[in-house]
Amino acid sequence: MAKIPQSHPRRKSLISRKTIVEATKNGLLADSAMIAHGRGEAFDYLLGEKTSDIAELSIKESAARLKLAKNPVISINGNTAVLAGKALIRVAAVLQCPIEINIYYRTEERMEKLYDFVKLQRLNVSKEEKPKNWAGNWEKTVMAVKILGREEDGRIEGLEGPRSICSAEGIEKADVILVPLEDGDRCEVLVSLGKEVLVVDLNPLSRSAKMATVTIVDEVSRMADLLLEYVIANTSKEAQWDNDAALKESLRIISNNANK
Ligand code: ATP
Repeated sequence: MAKIPQSHPRRKSLISRKTIVEATKNGLLADSAMIAHGRGEAFDYLLGEKTSDIAELSIKESAARLKLAKNPVISINGNTAVLAGKALIRVAAVLQCPIEINIYYRTEERMEKLYDFVKLQRLNVSKEEKPKNWAGNWEKTVMAVKILGREEDGRIEGLEGPRSICSAEGIEKADVILVPLEDGDRCEVLVSLGKEVLVVDLNPLSRSAKMATVTIVDEVSRMADLLLEYVIANTSKEAQWDNDAALKESLRIISNNANK
C-alpha cells in the first residue's frame, strides 16, 4: 500500500485498514476479521468518526465499574490486539488486572502468534513514559500485567465447544469483564452468569451491544485512550445505568448524521 499523506482526511481509517490487512497476512487474524472491521468502519462513518458524548459517558461508567471490581479482566480478540493492544495494556497496568487473549476461531498457532505479539506490546509499553497523572514505577507495573488465554483451564458455563474455553484466572473468575468486539452469544451467557460485561461495539444494533451491561459505542482504539484517562481519574459510577437509553442515543446520532 502506498504511503498515506499526513493531510489525507481518512488517514486514521486507512492506517487501521492497513494494520488489519497486514496482521491477517501475518497470521494474527482470521479472514473474517476484515469483515468485522468493515462492519465497524461503516458504523463509525455514520457516527461521524468521533467519540460522542454518550460514548464518553459509557467509557466513564466502565472505568468506574472496572475500578470497583474485585477481579476485573480485559479480554481481547485479534482485531482488538492489533488496533488497541498497547492502549489496553496501559489500562490493565493502571488497574493491575490481567489481559486475556480470547479468539473466536481458536487455533494453537494463532493463539501463540497473538501471545508473542501482545507480549512484545507489553515490553514496548513498559519502556514508555508513565501516563499523565499516574504515580508509581511504570516499567514494573506494566511488566506485572499477566497475559492469559493460552492455558485453556477455564470454561464458560452455558457455552459449548471452543467458544466455552477461557482462562480460569481470567474470564472464569472475573466479576467485571471489558470485552471489545464480542459476539452476541458469549456476551449473553457471560451476563447470565452474573458478570458485568462492558462491551465496545460500533454497532448499537448488534446482539452484544444489546446484551451488555454497559455498551461503549465507539471505535476501540479511540475509546481505549480515553478509558486510560478515566481509570486514572477519580470517577464515580451511576446509581443506575440505563444501557437501552444509551444505545438509543447512539442511534439518534446516526439518524441525525444521516439527515444532515
Ligand atoms: P453480534 O453477534 O453481537 O450481533 P456481529 O456478528 O454483528 O455481532 P461480529 O462479527 O461478531 O459482529 O463482531 C464485529 C462487531 O465489532 C461489529 O458489530 C462491528 O461493528 C464491531 N467492530 C468492528 N471493528 C470495530 C472497532 N475497531 N471498534 C469497535 N467496534 C468494532
